[in-house]
Amino acid sequence: MERRDFLNICVWSFVGLNIHFSSNKLSAFPEDLNKDQEETEVLVKVLGTAQDGGLPQIGCYCRNCIRAREDHRFSRLISSLAILDLKEKKYFILDATPDIRVQSHMALTRLGLEQQKRKNSPHAIILSHAHIGHYTGLMFFGYEAMSTHKLPVYCSPRLRDFLTKNGPWSQLVRLENISLFTLSFKKTLFLTPRISISSFLVPHRDEYSDTLGFIIAGKKKKLLYIPDIQSWEAWNRSIEEETKKVNYAILDGTFFCSEELPGRNFTKIGHPFITTSLETLKDVAKKGKTKIYFTHLNHTNLALDPEGKALKEIKTKGFNLASDGMEFFL
Ligand SMILES: [Zn+2]
Ligand SMILES: [Zn+2]
Ligand SMILES: [Zn+2]
Repeated sequence: MERRDFLNICVWSFVGLNIHFSSNKLSAFPEDLNKDQEETEVLVKVLGTAQDGGLPQIGCYCRNCIRAREDHRFSRLISSLAILDLKEKKYFILDATPDIRVQSHMALTRLGLEQQKRKNSPHAIILSHAHIGHYTGLMFFGYEAMSTHKLPVYCSPRLRDFLTKNGPWSQLVRLENISLFTLSFKKTLFLTPRISISSFLVPHRDEYSDTLGFIIAGKKKKLLYIPDIQSWEAWNRSIEEETKKVNYAILDGTFFCSEELPGRNFTKIGHPFITTSLETLKDVAKKGKTKIYFTHLNHTNLALDPEGKALKEIKTKGFNLASDGMEFFL
């Protein structure tokens, strides 16, 4: 390799890294960042909105992935939330994604803690299930990286069992980098005096663990978070009723419609299409009391085209796409 080429690569890697580690990851849709809210001491910050594979996806040159590579504002990190107690300066991460290095930085800069010469690990991690986009970020708390001590990790009993019995996760448990706690479906967990979280089972491909959805509550508002679910009909609760109980709902929007998956048997897709959700929740959206956002967007999702019909349909029907960096005061 010529030295000049090598230097070019170095410069570009550096630029790439800078973009990647910028905590204020600019959204392509700044008008959607849910500004003008009443500020409280509890903040949910959206750290990522892509399906487990991220956007762009490895080796993919579809239109959405090309756009995301050409303009990083269209790239999306993997679905995750930070729950912040602004008074106590504590942060909790809901789902440890492979993008967690960047995502914890987003949370830390929001709290203004990034200047301190400390490790600044999250105060706890909460996990929804054992698919790669939702728990493998735990690896960064191990011996090779942050090497935390007894970082609390909350999950379902089945996921706890999976992490305890299977390497490399079992090493995190054995070396006490993490301490596992079981979430009770009956009791609400208080992360701090002003943040509570309750969890419930949702149907999904449950190879290694079952799958949870969550309601996060502050003193004033509530947010429902279901990044992965097989379908609304397969759930033993009514999504319409559940969304009515909260101020915000951030829901599985993996695929817009069957059109983006030619040749696939879409009864076996395992996610509700956004088009189905628009229909199921149309009355809730029309009332306007609950704001509904879609997350966990697959790289093929038609709604990722900023000029496309799909995004227009979502907005005209009173729904929204979640964006990386979006904030909700609770
Ligand atoms: Zn997922
Ligand atoms: Zn793609
Ligand atoms: Zn999943």
